Amino acid sequence: MFSFALELIRYSMGKIIALANQKGGVGKTTTTINLAASLAALEKKVLVVDADPQANASSGLGVDIRNVELSIYECLVNGEDASGAITQTEVEGLDIIPSHIDLVGAEIEMLNLENRERILKQILTPLKEKYDFILIDCSPSLGLITVNALTAADSVIIPVQCEYFALEGISKLLNTIKIIKSKLNPALEIEGFLLTMYDSRLRLANQIYEEVKRPFRDLVFTTVIQRNVKLSEASSYGKPVLLYDADSKGSINHMQLAQEIVEKNSSLTLAYSHRLSYKCSILKMIHVARIVTGATNKAASRYLESMAEKCISNRIYNARNADTSTASASYNPRRNTLIAFCVSILLFIFSFDIVVFSLLFPVMYTRFYPHYPIIPFAPLPPPRAFGHINLFLLFI
Ligand code: ADP
Ligand code: MG
Repeated sequence: MFSFALELIRYSMGKIIALANQKGGVGKTTTTINLAASLAALEKKVLVVDADPQANASSGLGVDIRNVELSIYECLVNGEDASGAITQTEVEGLDIIPSHIDLVGAEIEMLNLENRERILKQILTPLKEKYDFILIDCSPSLGLITVNALTAADSVIIPVQCEYFALEGISKLLNTIKIIKSKLNPALEIEGFLLTMYDSRLRLANQIYEEVKRPFRDLVFTTVIQRNVKLSEASSYGKPVLLYDADSKGSINHMQLAQEIVEKNSSLTLAYSHRLSYKCSILKMIHVARIVTGATNKAASRYLESMAEKCISNRIYNARNADTSTASASYNPRRNTLIAFCVSILLFIFSFDIVVFSLLFPVMYTRFYPHYPIIPFAPLPPPRAFGHINLFLLFI
């Protein structure tokens, strides 16, 4: 029960997504800026964390990087409070923790710090409840700051440029993710591979899409970001493309991507809410069984609960790995409630008390328990009668 509650809390908080690829110029920063703005346009509260010393995400979102007083560098190295470094952008609902060129030296300065791979996680965890999405723009390296980003993140987006040798170096990144997953952050998932700078006129672009799709299948975003000069222009004006040219291909593609991510994550939340309803149904059954059979054996009921837990964990695991349509099919709350109802009816039939109740109910109510606030069902001592009140409540 407790772990289940924790999971629910985890999913009701913001999600940290790192954008990583040790190759430069693949579109990490462009995606971070424009995905963040599009998520904000979908009324999500978004924070961009610029973890690249080049500070392109900061300047691309209109921050004057020469006049930044508090950047991610001071938070990482001097332990400054991150909320002081948060800067508002021109887009409503979109904030940024800017970067600074000093970040180049941060990796060496952090070497002596305790728990040096988890510093960014400690900085961002308190901010998770304020934001729906926190996007970390990583630098083109797999150094300590990128390791910090992947340790802090719930998932990672891997932008892949549509060009020859698109997947070159990916195995190294995947290996790093694997090591971080096993040593530092077991919950890290791949949010998706994103194809960027896609040029539909070139046959090569399609071939590359197929090449990425073959090994990574469902992990490849349906949305591809097409090559569009407005994206570069907008960045040079310090704006996301949504504010620069809302009708451009670049703008539309990033809105589609934001929608895909929101849907993907809400279907997961949906799966959890279905899980909750499924769990309720099973617990209801156990509850009914306990009341009707009069089972008071705690060990037995704990066993039943653990069976329910296991059954549900398997389901959620399958749902996460299947596509969303299967996920919702296996979490049909109506079906679960129906199962609970049928089992309860069976238990009803086998229960002597209930037979007595159904035959004698009108007489008993008035004769035996006129002082009870809720209808008692059988001439039994009060604790049993309370059990029946429970039972009654389950069916209304
Ligand atoms: P990274 O952060 O991975 O180094 P950037 O996002 O900075 O990559 O992109 C590198 C260059 O490519 C930038 O000049 C950017 O404007 C340009 N660029 C990125 N995505 C696109 C796109 N879809 N269409 C056209 N130009 C793009
Ligand atoms: Mg960049």
